[in-house]
Amino acid sequence: MNIYLLLGSNINPVANIKRAILEIEGLKGVSIMAKSSLYETEPVGILNQPWFINCCLEVSTFLSPRELLCQTQGIEEAMERKREIRWGPRVIDIDILYFGEKVISDNDLTIPHPELHRRLFALIPLAEIAQDFLHPILKVGIKELISNAPPLKVNRVYRKGTQYL
Ligand code: ATP
Ligand code: CA
Ligand code: CA
Repeated sequence: MNIYLLLGSNINPVANIKRAILEIEGLKGVSIMAKSSLYETEPVGILNQPWFINCCLEVSTFLSPRELLCQTQGIEEAMERKREIRWGPRVIDIDILYFGEKVISDNDLTIPHPELHRRLFALIPLAEIAQDFLHPILKVGIKELISNAPPLKVNRVYRKGTQYL
């Protein structure tokens, strides 16, 4: 269905990414179709904080984009994410990157994610599971997005398919 989520955490990150994946698996009407490797990524914006772990998922769902956002925000809340500093340390962040071909620009929901093409911490894991998908607005593939994004340190730490769970 080409619906992709980005998970990110820099507080006990591997355990929290693992928990978020289990929570998403447990959502009614949502199935995980593919998981990327886990990557450790340099923080952006606020630099004096721990590196993040990021991971992308492909999901299949009959929920609408807004319903999916509501469910993923419910998981963030259940995991006691506190919104203190924008782009600061967080237990879990779940962003919707693509929802098929849908283009949405509401106040509380923008799809494709408006920063995706500038963020290697999202594009590099996404490239593992969305090789052939074109950005619905920019109409270019993931390799081209990666080659135009600003540099960032992104290291694979748990290879796709290995038992990090
Ligand atoms: P950024 O959006 O730059 O990655 P962030 O993830 O830290 O920053 P949050 O505090 O998690 O920002 O989210 C702020 C709001 O972004 C959410 O309340 C949500 O309504 C909105 N939002 C808009 N588009 C999306 C999207 N595609 N996925 C997730 N949240 C979104
Ligand atoms: Ca985010
Ligand atoms: Ca978010």
